[in-house]
Amino acid sequence: MSARVLIVDDLFPNVKLLETKLALEYFDTLVAMNGPDAIAICEKGLCDIVLLDVMMPGMDGFEVCRHLKNNPLTAHLPVVMVTALDQPSDRLKGLDAGADDFLTKPVDDTALFTRVRSLVRLKAVTDELRSRALASREFGIGDPLALAAAENGLDARILLVEDRRGAAERMAGALGQNHTVQVEADPQRAMQAAAENAYDCILVSLDLEGFDGLRLCSQLRSLDRTRNVPLIMLAEPHDRGRIVRGLDFGVHDYLMRPVDRNELLARVRTQTRRKRFSEVLRGAVQASMQLAVMDGLTGLHNRRYLDNHLGLLFGEASLRQTPLAALLLDIDRFKGINDTYGHEAGDEVLRTFAERIRLHTRPADIVARYGGEEMVIVLPEAGLVEARAIAERIRARIESAPFEIHRTARSVPVTVSIGVAVREPQDTGPADMLKRADLALYRAKHAGRNRVESQAA
Ligand code: GH3
Ligand code: MG
Ligand code: MG
Repeated sequence: MSARVLIVDDLFPNVKLLETKLALEYFDTLVAMNGPDAIAICEKGLCDIVLLDVMMPGMDGFEVCRHLKNNPLTAHLPVVMVTALDQPSDRLKGLDAGADDFLTKPVDDTALFTRVRSLVRLKAVTDELRSRALASREFGIGDPLALAAAENGLDARILLVEDRRGAAERMAGALGQNHTVQVEADPQRAMQAAAENAYDCILVSLDLEGFDGLRLCSQLRSLDRTRNVPLIMLAEPHDRGRIVRGLDFGVHDYLMRPVDRNELLARVRTQTRRKRFSEVLRGAVQASMQLAVMDGLTGLHNRRYLDNHLGLLFGEASLRQTPLAALLLDIDRFKGINDTYGHEAGDEVLRTFAERIRLHTRPADIVARYGGEEMVIVLPEAGLVEARAIAERIRARIESAPFEIHRTARSVPVTVSIGVAVREPQDTGPADMLKRADLALYRAKHAGRNRVESQAA
């Protein structure tokens, strides 16, 4: 997978070196020689990953990283800090600033390419979600990116798969201060626990007694239920080969033993943040998909949904020669309610109306708001007699009790007229059926309202 890599370093030879290495592996590169330039490039969305030098005059790497991670526009960009010294304190400062990883100068090629590839792959997933979540903003469900970027990564539910007592106790103790930790020594039971619980992060020892921890990682990655849970491998320095393979098939991160307490906390927190970031985005996408097919006032399906699904149901019914019915409902003298009690009261009546008709329909029926005070109910498998009976039940239910108007503490009588039609063999599409329902409705209105009429072809 190719990607646009932004190299940030104030020294030209360093830039040149990384540029050459990356170009040989077919990555596109961009260069910034100071913090503000780097931020500008990121904000314009010109790169997929940032290799960030720590020591720069003016704005140093930590500050740049913090800036990028706190800005909803750039928070999703993976940042790899490139440090001259492998100082634990530097690493911690970087992780605190939100860095996703580290490379130590002189940069080792395998480490560089593995890191860049694995982070870019993760980003591709987030990007997809991000653009769909951005599109959802038009539906007015807040700013999912800001919400996602504000996630702090604390109070996580963590599964620690480790059979060394001492190590498990030490890590669980450290993590337990901010999170809830469950320790599992047996890989089989760990797999089961992972499938049954919603963990924010799973840590897996690669050196379990008689079992390859990497196998558990791959199982966790392939199961739908656990695929998105961040995985961190606990490895020994001689595990290099397996670390690279793990990162290649999608394990998110690793910790080298002896595990540094602070690095453990920081990496778990970063992974938890990233997971929740995706979750918020995914939630926004789902909500927007719902809103796109829902009527905001009544919570019924909207016309777009009706047009789509009625077409499908109609095609299926024609093919299988099964019955299909449509009811067209129109509230009687609704204008009068608006004129007398106000538009808001009218809205309330519409909502109550929607609730009542929903009570008289089945999950397989489509109940949609067709226009202002007109609704359509599509009844799969219903013939004329059944459809008329359902329409009559709804009509009676609307009439049976007056509608409350909360603001005025009064209630008003409401009635509805309903036109019924069923699919007929000569119909070329759902429009023919709806047209007949409309004619029937017209007759119901003319015959005095509060009635059910049906129309045959
Ligand atoms: P009829 O019995 O012939 O159906 O009379 P009607 O007054 O119900 O019919 P008409 O079509 O003349 O008026 C419908 C009214 O519904 C007009 C419009 O202002 C109102 N309306 C449409 N959508 C909404 C809405 O979302 N909220 C409110 N409060 N009123 C709406
Ligand atoms: Mg009306
Ligand atoms: Mg009308």
